[in-house]
Amino acid sequence: MLGPPGAGKGTQAARFARSRQVPHISTGEVLRREREKDPELDRQARATMDAGRLVDDDVVIGIVRRRLAQPDTRDGFVLDGFPRTLMQAEALDHLLDDGVPLVVVDIEVPEETLIERLRARRVCARCGAPATAALTTCGACGGPLIPRSDDDDRVVQERLRVYAEQTQPIVEFYRRRPTFRSVDGDQPQDAVAADISSAVAAVLGVQ
Ligand code: AMP
Repeated sequence: MLGPPGAGKGTQAARFARSRQVPHISTGEVLRREREKDPELDRQARATMDAGRLVDDDVVIGIVRRRLAQPDTRDGFVLDGFPRTLMQAEALDHLLDDGVPLVVVDIEVPEETLIERLRARRVCARCGAPATAALTTCGACGGPLIPRSDDDDRVVQERLRVYAEQTQPIVEFYRRRPTFRSVDGDQPQDAVAADISSAVAAVLGVQ
């Protein structure tokens, strides 16, 4: 699942993974979780993530390689926030067994909408579920909602710049493939989810 920060990738990836009963793999989530357990990774990655820049390809590719080796990914998985560079996209092609179709869905959203959404974005301090400033507590576990440290205005600008410079080129890398689809992310959440579902079904030739 591709798309700029604020496109709704995380929410849509979680929703799609739940509907297909496959694991949802968010490299941002894994990094935030592993950082808490690993002081060395925390030292390497905290400043980079808080500044809105990308963690080293080797670190992130290692995370995805280890995760995809787990048996629960055998019937499929949803990648959210990976790949984000051409090197990661090439590494992913090598990680997948021959014949495994990689469906690429790009969620497109105009930049003004992204900035508004990122300003209103909240995350549950207890379970990490995504939320918005319109809510007072987490819909999943009732925990307190806080802004993400990388959603402040200056960092948002940097994340959008990094996206345009390093991640947008991979959309072009995939666009030529028959397994690529783009979806309009500037519509209500349910409509985006329905479009993603039909896009994937069309690529895989299933309902
Ligand atoms: P996300 O939760 O997907 O917005 O990711 C949060 C932060 O984690 C990003 O701004 C990056 O610093 C880091 N990150 C997540 N995925 C990747 C990736 N594939 N490559 C490099 N850095 C990543």
